[in-house]
Amino acid sequence: MYGLGILNGFMVTLKNFIRRPFTISYPEQRAPQHPRFRGEEFTWYEERCTGCASCAKFCPLGIIRIVTHPSQETPAEGDSYAIDVFDIDIGRCMFCGLCVEACPYDALFMGSGFEEAKYRRQDLVISVERLRTAEKRPSTWYRPQLEAQNYDPRRGEPMTWQGAGREPWPYHLPLRPTTEEMTTDREAKP
Ligand code: SF4
Ligand code: SF4
Repeated sequence: MYGLGILNGFMVTLKNFIRRPFTISYPEQRAPQHPRFRGEEFTWYEERCTGCASCAKFCPLGIIRIVTHPSQETPAEGDSYAIDVFDIDIGRCMFCGLCVEACPYDALFMGSGFEEAKYRRQDLVISVERLRTAEKRPSTWYRPQLEAQNYDPRRGEPMTWQGAGREPWPYHLPLRPTTEEMTTDREAKP
């Protein structure tokens, strides 16, 4: 019946009027995030990065650009590559996290932020300088070692490169012992 339909409509309106809202008034209010949230700014630890470019090769969109040169600090120990360019074009990123999964050395992590509004697309490219100087608050996504330490990026504490990995991985040249130091250390041991 026509009149009953109107009444039902009003009932639905009334029910929704008194129901607790699902939406929030952003930016005054913020929805709670999960520590495994795949945020947009990425966390990169140069100390752990060998420049292998696995992350770039596995990215389905090809938006990670890495340029390296052979480092000459400790060639006898195998050495690692020095990073000249490490750009991530997050304007095209779909935050699938495959690059993070592909990193064998726990050097790359998803970020924990979500506010990256820019006026120009080119400003969405994260450069190596920004990755180097950014606050290290990695998402715990695909990194159970962070969860094992009860790390939560939402608390705002930075995570060190030593704590971020499954094992200490002193690749970064300034942090690595020099060939001379290693030789001295070897000689000192019985
Ligand atoms: S999250 Fe996915 S799309 Fe984005 S850079 Fe990593 S692999 Fe590429
Ligand atoms: S971030 Fe990981 S995968 Fe990418 S170049 Fe560095 S070590 Fe290789």
